[in-house]
Amino acid sequence: MKNKRKRSKSNKKINYWLLFLVILLAIVLILSRARRSSRRAFYRPPAVEQSDNDKNTSQNSIKQGNMLEIPSVDKDYLLGRISPAQSEKMTEVDSRFASRKGMFMHTEAYEAFKKMYSAAADDGIRLTIISAMRTFDHQKRIWENKWNGHQKIHGDIYATDIDDHVKRAKEILRFSAMPGTSRHHWGTDIDLNSLQNNYFETGEGKKVYQWLKTNAESFGFCQPYTPHGQQRGGGYEEEKWHWSYKPVAAKYTKAFQNSVNYNDITGFDGYKTAQKLNVIKQYVLEIDPACEY
Ligand SMILES: [Zn+2]
Repeated sequence: MKNKRKRSKSNKKINYWLLFLVILLAIVLILSRARRSSRRAFYRPPAVEQSDNDKNTSQNSIKQGNMLEIPSVDKDYLLGRISPAQSEKMTEVDSRFASRKGMFMHTEAYEAFKKMYSAAADDGIRLTIISAMRTFDHQKRIWENKWNGHQKIHGDIYATDIDDHVKRAKEILRFSAMPGTSRHHWGTDIDLNSLQNNYFETGEGKKVYQWLKTNAESFGFCQPYTPHGQQRGGGYEEEKWHWSYKPVAAKYTKAFQNSVNYNDITGFDGYKTAQKLNVIKQYVLEIDPACEY
């Protein structure tokens, strides 16, 4: 009887110890989870849905999930309001890579392009830059030629056939950016070989496009304007010719998002439609996820 009581007493003791250990384990687990999720919350990238009016220039301190540092980029640079020949960030493109002389690229993007060009040449693929850095004024000429009906926008349509300014801008925006909002301002983006998607769908062009789809990424290049679909809901139409040097362009995209607002998108015919069409969110930021960090 005594022994039994003793045994049951010691069993009780063991049970208490077990209970204590289980509780301790649970506390440790809960604490470590809480620490992990608070760390994740700390590195959460800035909200993309932020209203454009709220944007400020405090981009230096913003970090993304993978610790992407947002550089402090001069706003005039982002808007293309610079002279590339005078910019320390830009290098003139050697004419053997391009369809004409006098083009400029961001130096890091150009160095990467030259490597990609050689690798493509080794595989029998010829890459030719037909457009690289474009200034605000260059983009203004492209835009206003279309806006004022000096050039067809597509097919047989002139923009001046469309009286409603918002609708007119929307048609031009299928393939052309408003001055101040083009990725070509940054020198990180280039147009290759042809400005027609159908060139890239048969023969030589198809080989070029397939080579780029397979290899461009390993040189840092991505295609920002892929077909509209699940990955990209809207914005510019597909451009098989337009390639972007992601290591620099992704940072500039963030810097643009953080520092440019609709007071900066001005100085060209039809500029008032920019805010109405929400071009920063609907066009500038509407890129393929492969071009984002
Ligand atoms: Zn382009």
